[in-house]
Amino acid sequence: LDILGIETSCDETAAAVVRRLPDGSGQILSDVVLSQLDLHAAFGGVVPELAARSHVSALDHLIAQALDDSGVALDDIDAIAVTSGPGLIGGLMVGLMTGKAIAMATGKPFFGINHLEGHALTARLTDGVTFPYLLLLVSGGHTQIVLIKGVNEYERWGSTIDDALGEAFDKTAKLLGLTYPGGPAVEQAALEGEAKKFRLPVPMRRDPRMDFSFSGLKTAVRQMAQEQAPLSRQTIADLCLAFQTSVTLSLDDRLTMALTRFSERFPDVKAPALVVAGGVAANKAIRATLQIRTDQSGFRFIAPPLNLCTDNAAMIAWAGAERLAAGLPADQLDLAPRSRWPLDQNATAVIGHGK
Ligand code: ATP
Ligand code: MG
Ligand code: FE
Repeated sequence: LDILGIETSCDETAAAVVRRLPDGSGQILSDVVLSQLDLHAAFGGVVPELAARSHVSALDHLIAQALDDSGVALDDIDAIAVTSGPGLIGGLMVGLMTGKAIAMATGKPFFGINHLEGHALTARLTDGVTFPYLLLLVSGGHTQIVLIKGVNEYERWGSTIDDALGEAFDKTAKLLGLTYPGGPAVEQAALEGEAKKFRLPVPMRRDPRMDFSFSGLKTAVRQMAQEQAPLSRQTIADLCLAFQTSVTLSLDDRLTMALTRFSERFPDVKAPALVVAGGVAANKAIRATLQIRTDQSGFRFIAPPLNLCTDNAAMIAWAGAERLAAGLPADQLDLAPRSRWPLDQNATAVIGHGK
């Protein structure tokens, strides 16, 4: 099965062709991503209208390039898979219209894919992970622990009650005067930080719910920064390290709970996988902690290559391939984009706007 994937939900325009072999393994035949990072950097965040316009001007070329790179003719593609939510409505509409037009012109099946399902299933493409497994999604827009039981069988165990983790990194960077995107800037600055110079709370520690919260931490950093003003380079580094340490401890605490719950529920699964996805998974301090935690709990730690952890179309094509292979029905061409679309609540796209 060869699937053409399209992703335009946020600030990356992407197209890819992915092949699924009969044994269930996958191959990325092409994968092109155009990041709009430079376009939005001056604004310190993604500007929806600019993003949508930029998708319009880039997408046709990217699709042509993805097909070209893959060596598969459009006629030989088996289905079109397009992100239909969650994300910025303008961008989603650009991808959907384009994907539907291709599907209509060629008569191929069309799949509207939940962006989170793309992240969730990537590890099966890259590492052949088998069901069930646990997903930790930590990106600019999402922070979730999800049980992946099968294609279209997802259980969300925890999510953030306020800011996403990537968002918290970005906001913290901003208030400390660092560059956008904030994650890499905070990680870099933290390398020069002195440990325990500042003590920040560890959000949600030992809370019986499996949820996350990061906005209080960001406020605590702001207060400390105000007390220390004007900020020296060293103080900024110390604050970055304190912030990064707190979020890492919080992730570790939440995850420990999740791994325990997984083991209780699936005692027969040998060396189960914890998969990470999302841009924050690039953070080396976080990765190191997750590696130690999974080692101690008898889990395998699976971190797909970074370009597949962040937004891309290969994961969307792959989700389409998995759906097709699992015998799930294709979507109608009047499918509407959904700005909000939790993965576990009716993961099959419905017509009309979700809340
Ligand atoms: P979503 O996929 O949920 O729609 P998104 O597209 O904004 O959101 P990604 O592109 O996966 O998310 O990741 C971007 C986020 O990852 C940004 O918030 C960025 O600050 C963060 N990030 C990137 N590198 C690092 C790092 N080294 N440490 C911490 N955070 C990082
Ligand atoms: Mg992004
Ligand atoms: Fe994403």
